[in-house]
Amino acid sequence: MKGKAAIWWRAHEPLEIREYPVPEVKSDGILLKLNLANICGSDIHFVEGRGPRLKGGIPQILGHEMMGTILKLGSEVKTDSLGQALQEGDRLVYSYYSPCGRCWACSTGVPGCPNRYRRWLGVPADTPPHFNGAFAEYYYVHPGHWTFKVPADLANSMVSPVNCALSQMIYSLHKVGVMVGDTVVIYGAGGLGLYGIAVAKEMGAGRVISLDKRDHRLEMAKAFGAEVTINVDKTSREERLEVIGDLTRGVGADLVVEVCGTPDVLDESLRVARVGGRYALIGNINLDMEGPIDPGNAVRFSKAITGISVYEQWVIPRALDFLVRLRDTYPFDKIISHTFPLEEINKAMDFARSGRPIRVALEC
Ligand SMILES: [Zn+2]
Ligand SMILES: [Zn+2]
Repeated sequence: MKGKAAIWWRAHEPLEIREYPVPEVKSDGILLKLNLANICGSDIHFVEGRGPRLKGGIPQILGHEMMGTILKLGSEVKTDSLGQALQEGDRLVYSYYSPCGRCWACSTGVPGCPNRYRRWLGVPADTPPHFNGAFAEYYYVHPGHWTFKVPADLANSMVSPVNCALSQMIYSLHKVGVMVGDTVVIYGAGGLGLYGIAVAKEMGAGRVISLDKRDHRLEMAKAFGAEVTINVDKTSREERLEVIGDLTRGVGADLVVEVCGTPDVLDESLRVARVGGRYALIGNINLDMEGPIDPGNAVRFSKAITGISVYEQWVIPRALDFLVRLRDTYPFDKIISHTFPLEEINKAMDFARSGRPIRVALEC
């Protein structure tokens, strides 16, 4: 039996659909038939040449935001990471990385193990079991990934963004903290930004201000609970600083969240934070993109800047509970706005890069 995968060779070139043999499952592994694989902003950075440097991991199967159905369960794998019994046919969400457990980061309980992609980006797709990335028909779950059974009543398209976008926002806002009544300003209203609004509201934010350059995303931001939306293409920097200043009695935002992935926003968004305010850097995951910033603004006004990547093991189950509990409150089913067949991944990638969709999913 063979399965398709979209293969990445180098930046700025189309992905190539190839077939690899579907692997046998070792006693401690799980083979999934993937259902949906989403295109995340960091996949776009990769295709545009700003992803992590791959030493030896070429050709590669990109993609990390996904969910699938258990096709074959290793003989030793009886439960998910919460101890819930697993069976073939169960749907699964899981971390797209596995911390090594032995490096300095792992030994001190910090997420972001530098070896967390060793079985994915560190290995070429030509090496068995081949299926280590999301843009493929199958996925081989090695031991060390956190796995969670999907609640029966959540649709695939509701849970495919859980292991990156939603979990990242739940963890990031937990790290920087949201206090009752906070004014939270979120730069970017794509998948992360929209989830961020809902998470901030549920954590007690008094008001969320959402900024983006697309009106349809800002409409969605309102549906997710943003009290104020600002189109950055239709306003000047001075106007935006003034609006946010006026809304906060001249004080500034308690918390600013960057989820737009471009350094152009850094200087302005840092200024928006109040004296002693918090600032979460999440979207600027790209390599080699620099932007001007006035560091004195952070120093003089004692602002706390936190960069956050990946999350801890407890987050995914909370994300799943969050969806079950609040699906009638927020339009989570609108995050995946468009789907394409896996074979049309290049078309899907171009469409995702256009900024027109909220989030694009590939049907694997
Ligand atoms: Zn992602
Ligand atoms: Zn480690």
